[in-house]
Amino acid sequence: MEEKQTEISSLGEFGLIEHLTRGIELKNASTVKGIGDDCAVLNYNETEVLVSTDLLIEGVHFDLTYVPLKHLGYKSAVVNFSDLYAMNATPRQITVSLGISKRFTVEHMEALYSGIRLACEIYGVDLVGGDTTTSRSGLVISITCIGDAPKDKIVYRSGARDTDLICVSGDLGAAYMGLQLLEREKVASAGQKDFIPAFQGKEYLVERQLKPEARKDIIQELAKADIQPTSMMDISDGLSSELLHICKASDTGCRIYEDRIPIDYQTAIMAEELNMNLVTAAMNGGEDYELLFTVPLHCHEKIKSIPGIKVIGHITDKSLGCAMITRDGTEIPITAQGWNPLK
Ligand code: ADP
Ligand code: MG
Repeated sequence: MEEKQTEISSLGEFGLIEHLTRGIELKNASTVKGIGDDCAVLNYNETEVLVSTDLLIEGVHFDLTYVPLKHLGYKSAVVNFSDLYAMNATPRQITVSLGISKRFTVEHMEALYSGIRLACEIYGVDLVGGDTTTSRSGLVISITCIGDAPKDKIVYRSGARDTDLICVSGDLGAAYMGLQLLEREKVASAGQKDFIPAFQGKEYLVERQLKPEARKDIIQELAKADIQPTSMMDISDGLSSELLHICKASDTGCRIYEDRIPIDYQTAIMAEELNMNLVTAAMNGGEDYELLFTVPLHCHEKIKSIPGIKVIGHITDKSLGCAMITRDGTEIPITAQGWNPLK
């Protein structure tokens, strides 16, 4: 049974904003003024300022039949933080803009904001503003993230060089398998009253899809080990696509090895259940929010000693193109659509 629901019109736009943002404390020295005036005021002295923005539309980017609003809020914020970490920067502020359709209540928005606020709390980011308006087609969320980094620490996509090692954090394909699982259970639940989804033994997949984390820890580990990546990005569209981005921006080729791609056992079990090629899922499944980066060859020992980072291949001269070496030693070109085992 749904709890008591309050119509947004009972608070009005300003009342809603006040309600959702009450008690927000500012933590970053760069935040001079947060919510409450015509602009937020930020002060950055010596450092470079980085900005990233994301737009999420109900029915296109998320499905509220299986995504809880709190998780949606958390994920919307975290994927923006991930973009900042992918530049080796620190996220400091976000603005949150909402388009809200009639079927949403104050309680729904509270749930969304509890997720956004939790993410800000955990990652040390200040919520400094936004905009609130009416939507005619579901929920629209746009988050802009602002952060900083010393000029000489920023890592672009374009810095990879021949012989650099290609590294990834965590494991790949689980978020995509989580999505397949949630979609399957959604279809199975249609029209049933007390449906219990079959998530047992697959909790990791569901969590990776619904509550991803940004790899702040990896950025910190790299800094501690005094490793400056030559190129980096976060894996939101799948490894194939991101590798091609780095190689294109850096004007290089690459070789990666199928047997080195990190994959969790739950991902493997799910792929088998769905009769899907596991490596395809890991290469092309999106939303892992792991980091893909390159380091100079001489960092090999240091990189190997950091848990949760795997060397999956190396950068080559551009003339060699981008390819994956399979378990039996065959070279398969990596394509924009990702790796296709049937080719
Ligand atoms: P304006 O009329 O200039 O757009 P608003 O009345 O929309 O200003 O916003 C008032 C204040 O509340 C501003 O500081 C704005 O950044 C903030 N704000 C508006 N919507 C949101 C939101 N959804 N989340 C957080 N802050 C918001
Ligand atoms: Mg406004």
